[in-house]
Amino acid sequence: MAINTSMEQLGKVRSAIRDLFEYGNARAEIIGRENVFDYSLGNPSVAPPEQVKETLLRLVTEEDPVSLHGYTSAQGDKTVRLKVAEDLNQRYGLKISPDCLYMTCGAAASLTITLKALSCPGDEFVVIAPFFPEYRVFIEMTGMKCVVVPADLEHFQINMEAFKKSINEHTKGIILNSPNNPSGAVLSDEILKETMDFLREKEKEYGHQIFVITDEPYRELVYDDRPVPFMTKLYRDTIVCYSFSKSLSLPGERIGYILVSEEMENFGNVYAAVCGAGRALGFVCAPSMLQKTIADNLGITSDLTTYRVNRDLLYDALTSYGYDCVYPDGAFYLFVKALEEDAKAFAERAKKYELLLVPSDSFGCTGYVRLAYCVSTDMVKRSLAAFKALAEEYLKS
Ligand code: PLP
Repeated sequence: MAINTSMEQLGKVRSAIRDLFEYGNARAEIIGRENVFDYSLGNPSVAPPEQVKETLLRLVTEEDPVSLHGYTSAQGDKTVRLKVAEDLNQRYGLKISPDCLYMTCGAAASLTITLKALSCPGDEFVVIAPFFPEYRVFIEMTGMKCVVVPADLEHFQINMEAFKKSINEHTKGIILNSPNNPSGAVLSDEILKETMDFLREKEKEYGHQIFVITDEPYRELVYDDRPVPFMTKLYRDTIVCYSFSKSLSLPGERIGYILVSEEMENFGNVYAAVCGAGRALGFVCAPSMLQKTIADNLGITSDLTTYRVNRDLLYDALTSYGYDCVYPDGAFYLFVKALEEDAKAFAERAKKYELLLVPSDSFGCTGYVRLAYCVSTDMVKRSLAAFKALAEEYLKS
């Protein structure tokens, strides 16, 4: 009996990141965890705020368990959505209602629901390299074509010339991700303005909407006082995909939301399509206890100090050893130019020093490696000698 071969293929081929992570675990069993410098996975290394624990304890001990663990509305508990809307209105000067929000199991669910809601046969969706590898999987799963805009290798913003060429009458939308995984870059106001102006022009020319999906799990993870603008204020046809995975260090709890801008002309239909896609994909009623937990922990983050310290340590040390690094304004990733053309070969050689670095190929960009520095500062310090030795090996040859 035939089964879905593309799904079979997806299940059989592990992502490069997961592969490396598993390699690290196997290596740790042989040489000890403390001797492996694992920079593979974007798993937050700082604990959720104490307040999150207090909320969970209060919910479990004081709330009616039947209601606490029961189903909420498909799109999420109304009181929770009201609190999320109020928080966003207050922090970003918006005027949104709870009825533009759909609670989800994290950014991955937010993205798959949104893409499913928007997709029609023949549509194209644009991603800006380097990008989170799952974008391709999520887009292609809907039957849409994933169009990759090559990286701007100078500032890791958007290569505007290539971007403009990628937009055509089949373009349904683009995904933006700022702060970015894997580069750590934050999109500048100028680039955002130019991008939005261009899309508005193209909407007029083609006579249909071009949606901007803004994938924002790292919204609050910025280190140099670089405010990240709220995209619905810049562009009417925006859908925000948010997650509490990184800001509150809750990736395993699977909680986030979709926000459909109420400014868009056909808001009612698009929001209905989001609810429909959530239903079709079985993503109704995000985890009830977690919805209630985040409602009492809005506008706060885990302690981000460790990430900033790690960023500074790594950036300063690696550049002093001769590595060329993209200066990361946000997220918790450092994107480093490989010391040979083939990033995979470079990452392989790094393993000799027990350094686990992700080659950039799966991010849609060749010649770099990604370091997820959401690790202990102690590990960062202990790994510096290995980075130095690796650089020296290349200098010698
Ligand atoms: N988008 C980006 C850019 C990410 O880096 C990640 C996770 O690392 C996700 C989406 C998925 O986030 P979540 O764990 O909330 O599903």
